[in-house]
This record gives sequence, structure tokens and C-alpha cells, in this order.
Amino acid sequence: MKTIKIFLIVFFNLLSVSAQDFKSDHFTIQKLSEGVFAAIHKTGGYAICNAGIVNLGDQTLVFDCFISSTAAADLKKAAEELTGNKVNYLVNSHFHNDHIRGNQVFSEAEIISTERTRNLIAEVEPEELKWEAEVVNDRIDTTLKRIAEETDPAKLEEHKMWLGYYKAIKESFLDYNITLPNKLLKDTLLIHGTERNILLFTKGKGHTESDIVLWLPIEKILFAGDLLFVDCHPWLGDGFMNEWMNYLKDLRKLGAAFIVPGHGVIGTNNEIDRMINYIQTINGFVEDAVIQNLTEEQLKLTEIPKAYETWWFSRFFIPNLVISYQKKIGKYH
Ligand SMILES: [Zn+2]
Repeated sequence: MKTIKIFLIVFFNLLSVSAQDFKSDHFTIQKLSEGVFAAIHKTGGYAICNAGIVNLGDQTLVFDCFISSTAAADLKKAAEELTGNKVNYLVNSHFHNDHIRGNQVFSEAEIISTERTRNLIAEVEPEELKWEAEVVNDRIDTTLKRIAEETDPAKLEEHKMWLGYYKAIKESFLDYNITLPNKLLKDTLLIHGTERNILLFTKGKGHTESDIVLWLPIEKILFAGDLLFVDCHPWLGDGFMNEWMNYLKDLRKLGAAFIVPGHGVIGTNNEIDRMINYIQTINGFVEDAVIQNLTEEQLKLTEIPKAYETWWFSRFFIPNLVISYQKKIGKYH
């Protein structure tokens, strides 16, 4: 009897997996609840950030859309197949290239962002593209060399992620058109569907000057964009440390069952706490540097604390320190 029960459980689990088993080279789909899916970046693929798909019943919403139109086209297909609807809404959580470059694939949808994010995309993207065109071939060569020489399996995986990042950028030069959001969110936007409602809101500054999150109040699922990185150093260069920590403390109060980060695996409030601790740690180094009157060169010798040794994006650690230090002493422009 017990054997039959186990068999049935395994059988039905297999059935439910196959129902949502969308194949892409760029991401894997994780079903979080009925009608709610996370698209999690796959190493070597051209997604880079994570994304979300929500079936509202009569409408479908996608949260963030990757760095390349190739990965974004897969995301659109996944959203349509999983929900049976066209995509009606796309959200740009913030202006960074890996979250917005798929916009052109969703040109039939309403593309939602804050006004500041839309303006930042318009200001930053032309400059960013110019710079990327200058460096991308060199970055691909350097990363391939690192892959050939790397002996640590975890670091090798990260090099492969960066190779996907640079290759996606290079490929995107072929067809990328900067596509700006066409629906602006001020503070909050509640979207009612026939099966579920979602709340989009911003508390302003955090990871960037303007970050939007998506909250499903019944399912208790939060899509946090880059306000949360899991097992990865966050990029603090465009961020505001105090506002970011306050934002995270507010998000923690939601009591989410699942939190989909901008990068890394799905987390909970524990990962929010770790992110706050990371920002506090950087803050602590910067305050000590000011008290001890350290030079930037001395600050650059800071070793990554043990707690973050295995985190990806270790290349962000020193710039995070230096830029935060420059901001603190009013030297950053
Ligand atoms: Zn970002």
C-alpha cells in the first residue's frame, strides 16, 4: 500500500513538472504557486537576471526581461504557453541593462516603470552601448582565458555566466533598439485579474534611484528585482545604502513565503537579512576608512569577509567599497 502511495506521489509530481517544463538555454522555470512562475537564469545563457511570469486569469504580466532579445523571446513564449494569454504587461524593475534589453520583444504590451527609471534608460543606454562596443571583444577573450585556466568548479561556473553576459551583449548589437517604458508608475499600481491581483510598488531609492517590486498578497510571493541578490555580491555602485536597507526592512515586513531575487536562487526573509548585513558590512569598512583616513589604495587591500567568500560577483566587492567611500566623502560624481 505504501509503495503504491509513493508511486502515485512520484507519478503526479512528474505530471506537474512536465506541465510546466518549458525548455530554454537561458533560464529554467520554477512554479511558485498556481499561475505564478519564476524564470531563473541558467549558467551560460543570455538571461543574466531572473524574471517573473504571473497569470492574472484574463491577463498576463512579466516582471523584468533579461539582457538579450533572444532570451526575452523565450520568456515571452514561456509566458504565453504557461498562461494561455498574450503578455499584457511588462515591468522594468529598474534601469540596468540586464533587466530591460528585452523590452523590444514586448512591444505589444504595456511596459511599466517609474518615470525616473524611464529617464535613466534613455540617458544611460546610449552611453552604455558605446562603452560596451569598445570593450566587449576584449572581455570575451579575457573570460575565455579564465575559463581555460580555472581549476575551481564554482569559479568556473561564474566565468561561464560572465561569458554568457558578454556574448549576449555582443549578439544584441545586431538587433537591439532602445525601447522605453510607455506606462509610468508613481507609487503603487494594483492590477486586478479574474484569478489574482498583483500590487506593484516603489519606495524610491534602493539598488538604484528608483526600484519597483511586485507583490502577490494572497500567494505571499515577492519579486524583488535587484533589491535582493542571493549568494551574490550586489552592485552598490548606483545604490543608496541607507535607503536600500530601509527598503529591505519594509519588504521583510511583508512576510513573503518566496522572494525571487534579481540574481541568484529563490530566497526568504533570511536572505533579506543577509543582504542587510552585507550593506552594513560595506558601510562599516567605509566608516573605518574615513576614521583612519585611509587612502583608496589602502581600502582596495580589504579582503572579502569569510561570510561572502563563496558569493558570486566577487569583482563587485572592491568597487562597492571604493564607490561607497567616495560617496561618503563627497568625491563621487
Ligand atoms: Zn541592477
